[in-house]
Amino acid sequence: MATATGKRLAGKTILITGASSGIGRSTALEFARTSPKDLKIIVTARRLDKIQQLAEDIKKEVGEGIKVHPVQLDVSSANAVSEFVNQLPEEFKQIDVLVNNAGMVKGVAQAPDIAPADLSEMFATNVTGLINMTQAVLPIMKARKNEGMHADMPGAGDIINIGSIAGREAYVGGSIYCATKAAVRSFTEAMRKELVSTRIRIIEIDPGQVETEFSVVRFGGDKSKADAVYKGVEPLTPDDIAEVVVFAAGRRENVVLADTLVYPNHQGAATVMHRKPA
Ligand code: NAP
Repeated sequence: MATATGKRLAGKTILITGASSGIGRSTALEFARTSPKDLKIIVTARRLDKIQQLAEDIKKEVGEGIKVHPVQLDVSSANAVSEFVNQLPEEFKQIDVLVNNAGMVKGVAQAPDIAPADLSEMFATNVTGLINMTQAVLPIMKARKNEGMHADMPGAGDIINIGSIAGREAYVGGSIYCATKAAVRSFTEAMRKELVSTRIRIIEIDPGQVETEFSVVRFGGDKSKADAVYKGVEPLTPDDIAEVVVFAAGRRENVVLADTLVYPNHQGAATVMHRKPA
């Protein structure tokens, strides 16, 4: 029997950025598991092989009730993003839920030693990319008609932005990443206010420490440095965040999970965590 969340999500079209690994990949799977009979999911990332594999994995686990459309996309290119949205196949065009998840961090350098290329890439992905996606998808949501008591107020859909504890609290060695996530937070809050007369929900979910490819990317592929980040602690899994994303999208339309901070049990702030001795 379908859960209330499963029933509310049925028939929807979900678009997820950064679905080739970590939180994005888990989110696609969790949506599919929650509403396995009637859902369309568009999964995007730069690594096409990974999202094609994800589409296969979803079909294998959940069956043919889910239509998955994998598309290679670099969110930092405004042209690529608008072309992608314009060229979506007819049956995937009516996006109901946008999960702005693509994001990354490079290095732990401090000013004045931050490489200009790292600075540009972090802002281009985490901030400009998220805004590119939002601007391309928002017209679809704003044009959506409502019924009943909201018939005179067009606009419906969900934009779920994956922020970070780093956007609430800056830490040493994370100045640029923290600044990008603080920018996401400001953009999200402004949009929630700007769209208040519509039924569009603007949702931010801020994870604490999650074990994904995030730290491997931060240290340029150095797995031992990435592993050291999680030494003596038990980080969240990407599935933990995926469950919160799907929960937020699956609330009754009048319920907005506006802003959520999610920690593992050992974490009390960006850099306050209890580590077990080795
Ligand atoms: P991850 O495993 O490294 O996944 C990041 C995803 O973003 C990948 O699918 C990557 O795919 C995609 N991506 C990166 N640059 C992109 C671009 N220019 N265009 C399109 N896709 C791009 O890391 P994750 O932890 O799941 O990160 C997901 C989100 O959670 C990020 O926004 C991150 O800032 C946030 N977050 C993570 C943590 C954590 O501790 N892990 C904590 C708080 C917040 P491709 O490389 O294939 O493009």
